[in-house]
Amino acid sequence: MKYRHLLSVTIAATCLVGTASLSGQTTAVQSRTKTHVETLASDKFEGRLTGSPGEKLAADYIISELKRMGAKPLPGMTDFRMPFTFTAGSKDGGTTLTVTRTGASPQTFSGAASVQALAFSDTSEASGPVVFAGYGLVVPEAQNFGYDSYAGLDVKDKIVVVLRYFPEDADQKTRGILARYADLRYKAQAARQRGAKGMLVITGPRSPNAGAVVPMSFDTAIAGSGLVAASVSGDAFASIMAAAGKSLDAVQKEFDSGNPHVAGFAIPGITVSLKANVIRQQQTGNNVVAYLPATTPTTGVAKPWIAVGAHYDHLGRGGAGNSLAGKDEANQIHHGADDNASGSATVLAIGDAFSKQARKRNLLLAFWSGEELGLLGSNAFVTKPPFPLENMAAYLNFDMVGRVADNKLTVQATGTSAMWPKLLEQANIVAGFDLVLQEDPYQPTDVGSFNTASVACLTFFTGAHQEYHKPGDTADKINYEDLVRVGELASGIVKRLMDSAEAPQFTKVEQKTDTGGRAGLRLFTGTIPDYASEVKGLLLGGVIGGGPAEQAGLAKGDVIVEIAGQSITNIYDYTYALELLKIGQPAKVVYMRGSEKRETTLTPAARK
Ligand SMILES: [Zn+2]
Repeated sequence: MKYRHLLSVTIAATCLVGTASLSGQTTAVQSRTKTHVETLASDKFEGRLTGSPGEKLAADYIISELKRMGAKPLPGMTDFRMPFTFTAGSKDGGTTLTVTRTGASPQTFSGAASVQALAFSDTSEASGPVVFAGYGLVVPEAQNFGYDSYAGLDVKDKIVVVLRYFPEDADQKTRGILARYADLRYKAQAARQRGAKGMLVITGPRSPNAGAVVPMSFDTAIAGSGLVAASVSGDAFASIMAAAGKSLDAVQKEFDSGNPHVAGFAIPGITVSLKANVIRQQQTGNNVVAYLPATTPTTGVAKPWIAVGAHYDHLGRGGAGNSLAGKDEANQIHHGADDNASGSATVLAIGDAFSKQARKRNLLLAFWSGEELGLLGSNAFVTKPPFPLENMAAYLNFDMVGRVADNKLTVQATGTSAMWPKLLEQANIVAGFDLVLQEDPYQPTDVGSFNTASVACLTFFTGAHQEYHKPGDTADKINYEDLVRVGELASGIVKRLMDSAEAPQFTKVEQKTDTGGRAGLRLFTGTIPDYASEVKGLLLGGVIGGGPAEQAGLAKGDVIVEIAGQSITNIYDYTYALELLKIGQPAKVVYMRGSEKRETTLTPAARK
């Protein structure tokens, strides 16, 4: 490892003209990189939550660095900031449900403990007769499975009631399929498409979180779903169920069999009026973009832009629901040194290196915000690009590149162009990493936006770790020596792309997983998969303190090969298997610790 590093230094030395000693150069880059990471990850920037004062301070810092290296605002722009608006959160602004039984006086429920809008609800009113539509699940015909909660039901202009989650007692295969369509957004879409005016969700007595209203989840959608939708408590729902003359427990039990022939029913003699009020808080985030113009005319150059980018936003104090902090660390600053001050520093280092070189193409330097909230910044950029994206030869992304261990570096999205594997191999002769190449571009980072926009792209990643999305992701845990090498490897790739007459051809990679209703995932295991792993099975990058995995004795480095009788060969098998588990029901886990095969029992908990 060290030897390879020394080799890279020696070769690079022959390319440099000047008097500065090479070790001096490397040390200078390393100390500057360290300063970038330490500054971005400092308490002062408060975790760089999109739209927050900390994000603005981080943008200012990046801009001052861009100016220092002589980078320019993009053509036609005067500023380095590219703002985008997003929904920073939703609040219930007072939702009410009025239930009227024929001949009785109306009963109105309000207050978050009784009735609460779903985050994606329209702010509007809907009233009408009520239809109970079981779990409200519709499996698309293409799945050849035959499950439609609305079969034979007329819900046009009515309010549908659906159970949260999916049938509790169905066999594993059925549960696995239905789980994919159990996301409430998906259920709302199905109801709306069948003409329903509103949707009420009840968490059945036989389900986890029985009788509780659904927490108003973080939802970044700017618009509502075109439906009035709310969840109601068991107590409030009792007034509706009473009209049906049935017990909800008995009704749910029938649906829980998973038998597709158990039908829903209209509840006679009753009308409800649902007035949902969702307050969406709009905020502005800022991408920071700049470029180093080509130093020779680009006329006749195929695709005259090359882009390198990294998100610079992080989780703030972790309030948006994507923090993995334990109870004892709740509300602390999430420093995000690896995620993703490391990638931001790398983009700055690449910019620095090329600011002193001849350039045959323009080099775009991008710092995205809103990544942690769902790739919002990069998505805004590709949706309204400042120049046609056909002119972009390639996009290189860096997200969590500061924790190189054992010389291993993962490069993902290599399937987006046939030329990547060869190019990476060539550039790596100098850098000397043990590269792990993964073709799949459908990664939870900004590379996804560029893949969608048909730009040949790559993303660099050094693996998940214990501090992932926790306050402890701090600058002192970064491997600066190897972080600099990641930048050197990437610069080698950029250099080759710049000097090549041709540009990479984009190849579309088919998506392997059906992400249809993945958000239906409702259980919590406390495992942190190592997404970069190549091993057969699921390598754990860590476990969440106090979570079910830790309680089961699992630890970082273990490789899960079987769970609840399902063999696991990769991350897709694992996420699929999770959908088959039941909350509170122990599942047998077979795993490898080193070369030793072990067994334990993991009891999944409920995700709130
Ligand atoms: Zn992250």
